[in-house]
Amino acid sequence: MRAGFDHYYMSTKVAMVTGSNKGVGLAVVRALCKQWQGDVYLTARDVDRGQEAIESLASEGLKPLFHQLDINDLNSIKTAAAFFKGKYGGVDILINNAAIAFKVADTTPVAVQAEVTLQTNFFASRDVLTHFLPLIKPGGRVVNVSSFVGPRTLNKCSLELQQRFRSDDITEDELVGLMQRFVDKAKKGELKQDGWPEMPYGVSKLGLTTLSMILARHLSKKRPHDGILLNACCPGWVRTDMTGERAAKSPDEGAVTPAYLALLPPETTEPHGKFVSDKKVQLW
Ligand code: NDP
Repeated sequence: MRAGFDHYYMSTKVAMVTGSNKGVGLAVVRALCKQWQGDVYLTARDVDRGQEAIESLASEGLKPLFHQLDINDLNSIKTAAAFFKGKYGGVDILINNAAIAFKVADTTPVAVQAEVTLQTNFFASRDVLTHFLPLIKPGGRVVNVSSFVGPRTLNKCSLELQQRFRSDDITEDELVGLMQRFVDKAKKGELKQDGWPEMPYGVSKLGLTTLSMILARHLSKKRPHDGILLNACCPGWVRTDMTGERAAKSPDEGAVTPAYLALLPPETTEPHGKFVSDKKVQLW
């Protein structure tokens, strides 16, 4: 009896969305629940906010499941990864959506904004990828929710930095070093001399997009026959707590491109390792 029960979960498809108690992440969970056959996990760092979100989707007749996940807490990441490995034997769809942004009017010093923003949006998102990529099943889809601010920020970096971010041979270690260098230079007040714009959020997303390209190349090399597609995307300018009411898209409209990438049909070979906006591959 027990073996049959385990077999059921091992063969059930499963999706997981980080930071999905509100905003774009919540809308992605809604889209997956509507468009996909499988267990869809809404995750949140705060259990109460997560449960409230689960209840709001339940009132729409949808049935997402919940798991706690604070991407800034390595134990929380490891616990979630062990849960999905133990219950489902891995993950079919991972949407790395959680992020923070200081408001434009915020007067917090750029050094603090740099450290705090890169910690969540780049370093913690990378920790999620480090622990979850080995769990992605053949045919899996990985979507990193980045931003159109990434390419804008890239174009404001020195030519030397632009060349490294755009190169095909940049390694994960080199990228991590560059992101740390940004934080260090921000603390010393030396961003401009070192070729960086004072745009912590943009640099964090530039880092996440570059990381996506690096990890896609790794997957192609190490698991060439597994058909996994990994991409970064921009949801567009979306009305959420991050941006406010003036933005152009509703959260459901913002979920369209992440859900499209998550649901690329089996046997599809591209896009892979790209930055995608409005369902189209963008120049990098
Ligand atoms: P919101 O601020 O509405 O939502 C962000 C979500 O991330 C919240 O659920 C938040 O949880 C969660 N989060 C933050 N830190 C952590 C953490 N340490 N662990 C787990 N969850 C965390 O933002 P959006 O929905 O607008 O943003 C979603 C994604 O889209 C982000 O990656 C953002 O950068 C990107 N994006 C958004 C754009 C827009 O116009 N809105 C434009 C371009 C990109 P909590 O409620 O607990 O704070």
